[in-house]
Amino acid sequence: MAAKTVSENGKLIVLAGPSAVGKGTVAKYIIDNYPGFHLSISATTRAPRIGELEGEAYFFKTEQEFLDDVEHSRMLEWATVHGKHHYGTPRGPVEKAISEGKVVLLEIDVQGAFQVKSSHPDALLIFVKPPSFEDLAARLDKRGTETPQDKLNRLATAKQELHRADDFDFIVVNDQVARCAQEVVELIESN
Ligand code: 5GP
Repeated sequence: MAAKTVSENGKLIVLAGPSAVGKGTVAKYIIDNYPGFHLSISATTRAPRIGELEGEAYFFKTEQEFLDDVEHSRMLEWATVHGKHHYGTPRGPVEKAISEGKVVLLEIDVQGAFQVKSSHPDALLIFVKPPSFEDLAARLDKRGTETPQDKLNRLATAKQELHRADDFDFIVVNDQVARCAQEVVELIESN
């Protein structure tokens, strides 16, 4: 299987796209079904949701801890997302996995994606799109984890993010998780 090829060469892959588009589900599907991939665990200053575990969903940090990591260059990229909390990619684990020849997936926002491209020009930027904006709003409703105001914020951010899709190396549509994951893997293998 072609995954052997990717596992021999470390690569940095960014999956970005609007909140609730399902990029986390696509990333998890790839990790569970294809060998040689490593999923980066982000740090955030937002509070854990029910069921989210430290070091699994995120590394949960105070504002001060987070800014201390930024100041000491321990973040590969970081951004304030939805105008509220900070999110960032811890640098150490990513660099280690790449040096081990793994394909590292970053599931991050659009601002972070462009930071990664400027520090790592070889990184592949993949934008995950919903089939439609209405579909995205419905997914956010179904998830039920945000307050009505948070939902409005996330949809406003999503509109801005969708406008940046053309600046990515590739765009995929998450109409079906397994199909979308396969498309992402094929793009990684051929680029
Ligand atoms: P949530 O609060 O729903 O878990 O995540 C909100 C948004 O933060 C998601 O759309 C996700 O793309 C973004 N995000 C998660 N981790 C990171 C990160 O490490 N860096 C950046 N820039 N954005 C992130």
